Amino acid sequence: MLLVAQPELGAAEKRALCETIDSGWITMGPRVQAFEEAFAARHGAADAVAVGSCTAALHLILAALDIGPGDEVLAPSLTFVATTNSILYVGATPVFVDIDALDRPLLSLAEAEAKVTPRTKAIILVHFAGRLADPAPWREFAERHGLYLVEDAAHVIGVEGVGTYGEAAAFSFYGNKNMTTAEGGMVLSRSPELLERIRRMRGHGMTSGTFERVSKREAGYDVTMLGYNYRMDELRAAIGLVQLEQLPAWNERRRALRAAYANELGRVCPAVLVPFDDDGPSANHIMPVLLPRGVSSRAVAAFMREAKVQTTMHYPAIHQLSYYRDRFPGLSLPVTEEFCEREITLPLHPSMGQGQVTEVAEILAAAIRGQG
Ligand SMILES: *Cc1c(COP(=O)(O)O)cnc(C)c1O
Repeated sequence: MLLVAQPELGAAEKRALCETIDSGWITMGPRVQAFEEAFAARHGAADAVAVGSCTAALHLILAALDIGPGDEVLAPSLTFVATTNSILYVGATPVFVDIDALDRPLLSLAEAEAKVTPRTKAIILVHFAGRLADPAPWREFAERHGLYLVEDAAHVIGVEGVGTYGEAAAFSFYGNKNMTTAEGGMVLSRSPELLERIRRMRGHGMTSGTFERVSKREAGYDVTMLGYNYRMDELRAAIGLVQLEQLPAWNERRRALRAAYANELGRVCPAVLVPFDDDGPSANHIMPVLLPRGVSSRAVAAFMREAKVQTTMHYPAIHQLSYYRDRFPGLSLPVTEEFCEREITLPLHPSMGQGQVTEVAEILAAAIRGQG
């Protein structure tokens, strides 16, 4: 089965894990710090805070910005549910905003503008599929309305410019992302004060951690805020350091595979719509395509599965999931809804070959013919 996503793991990761175990220290310590420094440097930043997941990163960012009950946060519905769960964690209200267009499935500025109220406190931008949103109009929008600007950067690890839009960006190292630590996440911010607050909140709000106390820098500790256990550990950080080294080559490989897909799909199934055909900055995290109207995505997925090609969907719209539908009834986001109805995600990962891209395109074409 050709999978939609697949982690790249090998001898170097195994060696790094063994070295960490042999070091005798497996909870947050020098490797986590080295990973934070390397990750920040890779994104042109001075500092970053490693956490247990992107979900934890988003929660910490909103909590550290003092967003809470009574506040509204603008966000897309076309994203993973963690994006808006983080808003609910702090007691604030997500306000769902439609996407721009079927071939540009990023947050619509006009729709965001229409949904601002006196209670709006922040906006979470998602760089969907790895494609960076345009920074200038969003910065201007956030500034004009006095909003915090937060990036859900789970899809855009290693892309120049990410993490510079507003207050902070949240990254994911889950197993299907462009680089992985199995589970893991990172907060990137240009504000040392915000990062310090998040760093403390990551570890129960304590003024020093176990490693600092063992290495005798601190004798005791105080607790100065309500914190969480959102730490990363040394094993994950050791894998992350190895993965980060290879990220540029992997992202370049993804770019080439995506270009091959665009070509092959244009050749064998031109009725399929490939979003983002303008070659803007992207980490090419996933390969979403839209089926022609009236073609059943479920039938196409079943046909492709028979041909040993896995497909998935990004995403079921959050406002249509039971938990959210019950809390936000009657909400309509027409462009998001059509996108989600017609979308399937094709396999895209660095170990794929160009021949497999051609094969997938041909199988997709056959699946659509079978429907027609
Ligand atoms: C994967 C993902 C998340 C959640 O990441 P975790 O590290 O699993 O918490 C959040 N937002 C988006 C857009 C994602 O793709």
